[in-house]
Amino acid sequence: MKDLQKQKQDYLDQFKSRTYGRNLLKSDDPFDAPSEECGIFGLYSENDLDTFSLSQFGLFALQHRGQEACGISVMNQGRIFNLKDEGLVLDFYKDIREPETFMGNSAIGHTRYTTAGDKKKYNFQPFFAKNEYDQIILSIAHNGNLTNAKCLKAELEAEGVVFKATSDSEVILRLIQKNLDLGLRGAIKATMEKIEGAYSVVGMTRNKFFAFRDFHGIRPLVLGAIDEKTFVAASETVALDAVGAQYVRDILPGEIVYTNENEPGLQSFMVREDCQRNICAFEYIYFARPDSTLEGINVHEVREKSGMKIWEQAPVEADIVIGVPDSGVPAAIGFSIASGIPFRPVLIKNRYVGRSFIVPTQDMRERIVNLKLNPIISEIKGKRVVIIDDSIVRGTTSKRLVKILRMAGVKEIHFRSVSPPIIAPCYLGIDTPSKDDLISANMSVEELREYLGVDSLEFLSMENLITILGSSNHCFGCFTEKYPVPKGDDEEIFK
Ligand code: AMP
Repeated sequence: MKDLQKQKQDYLDQFKSRTYGRNLLKSDDPFDAPSEECGIFGLYSENDLDTFSLSQFGLFALQHRGQEACGISVMNQGRIFNLKDEGLVLDFYKDIREPETFMGNSAIGHTRYTTAGDKKKYNFQPFFAKNEYDQIILSIAHNGNLTNAKCLKAELEAEGVVFKATSDSEVILRLIQKNLDLGLRGAIKATMEKIEGAYSVVGMTRNKFFAFRDFHGIRPLVLGAIDEKTFVAASETVALDAVGAQYVRDILPGEIVYTNENEPGLQSFMVREDCQRNICAFEYIYFARPDSTLEGINVHEVREKSGMKIWEQAPVEADIVIGVPDSGVPAAIGFSIASGIPFRPVLIKNRYVGRSFIVPTQDMRERIVNLKLNPIISEIKGKRVVIIDDSIVRGTTSKRLVKILRMAGVKEIHFRSVSPPIIAPCYLGIDTPSKDDLISANMSVEELREYLGVDSLEFLSMENLITILGSSNHCFGCFTEKYPVPKGDDEEIFK
């Protein structure tokens, strides 16, 4: 946040001179760990609105999808302004007090979580492209990962295109920019025909708004309307709720929605008609908010049903069931409903421990076992406990939890993961470690049970997961190592 005041002043100064736009830093790095989880939000209105404040509300609702950086672009009377910085949405916006400056017809925004080493400012979004007069002519925000970005970047650079950042998202920006002569729709279509992988994108030119989704719809993107003249596209329905928009529908795989000066409202164009829906199953299991509904399926319901199913799959005698906050809790409630074993909310999460909590030494790391999660000891001492988490990735959390429960004096621990074993990395937009660090890729269930030191261990079966989700039309790559799109030429840069 250190240069926010300066950025804000630049913004205000340049607003007056109508040439605002902070130059992105130049880098010669190759893509550096583009793996990321993000939230995107876009709004378009035929009325003049405080689009800045509305985008702030929308991004705040998507904060769980990324906490490291955020930004917005606002389109105001044919000009695009961009602001972005590291930190949380509220930290970023709280110092900006000239809302009238941010009136406009359109805004897009982005919340970003990146893996360590990729936190460079030039990779913050929205990305923008400028014309020869230093005016922003195009801006986009992207959630997902491209699998052929490296090779496309090399192609574009050979044609003389200059890149300012090291993120795969800039490839999308530069391809649209390069093809703008085809008209906006044509430029997006040409881009979608080149790029591969997972992408949900919102964007704007100086007079148009657009949103589009990859041919498998791997990352979510929903459409809503505040009134007949005001439309919203966002990663999750919670962002629609936050701005008072009604859900209209999910943007389809392979679809572009866009505005066109000759026709009112939003237009739709299918780049390909024969697309199959393959939304990421992990969005339901862990990533999306429980109050979101994606592709017509409510996230909380999936989590609750997964708890019910794992009871059917692996029943056990116990005194209480507890859930690992936050995403394990609805599953624990489901398990309790199905089994009749009482659910007790006895694991207390410290809300202020963020993912960026840095612990310098192993000794200190071992001392912080109870820092993030602490049990109410009197509730669990001497009891047979079923503990439910959404997933086991590296095994660090579960190992730590078992230690906490043993220290609290529980009699038996029955661990249930309401996702199947994660055996393969995701290269389509969820931050997971490489195969070497995925504990289920390296241990059988029995070996893992022993390693964790629990009395029983079960993972939700693939069959049950498919039943809960209602179809196998999802990306299950992290469980099956079979992905809806080829891994592509960028595989080595992801892990
Ligand atoms: P681990 O400690 O590596 O086994 O991670 C498992 C825990 O991390 C579970 O409690 C999950 O809720 C959470 N989790 C699962 N996937 C992710 C992810 N991609 N990023 C951050 N946390 C995750």
